[in-house]
Amino acid sequence: MSSIFTRIVEREIPADIVFENDRIIAFKDIAPQAPVHLLVVPKTEQYANVVELAAGDPALLAELVAVSQKLATEQANGEFRLVFNNGPSAGQTVFHVHAHVLSGPITEGSLGF
Ligand code: AMP
Repeated sequence: MSSIFTRIVEREIPADIVFENDRIIAFKDIAPQAPVHLLVVPKTEQYANVVELAAGDPALLAELVAVSQKLATEQANGEFRLVFNNGPSAGQTVFHVHAHVLSGPITEGSLGF
């Protein structure tokens, strides 16, 4: 069974996609926790979390960070919070690595994280 994010990559379920290249897709989180709340996702579901991604393909992690910066510049003032939840007890619900890009403005206590 493919992850929910693979199903978005394959256009099996809809999403508000804001960026895509050969290795990464980004779309709006369905339950936003900030004025800008995007998910930046490697297209491969090979890595469950950022620790696995950093060990397995550090260049892809670096590209994911660069895409996050680009989107935060396009959609806010270029400043952003980058959140990776690692494991169920840390709030991870989708085990296909993804970065939450949260941006502006973020008020204290506004995040569900
Ligand atoms: P996490 O809890 O860190 O695993 O993050 C999963 C995120 O995916 C949550 O913030 C959800 O709101 C978001 N999400 C789940 N399904 C969808 C979907 N179909 N489209 C967009 N975001 C989704």
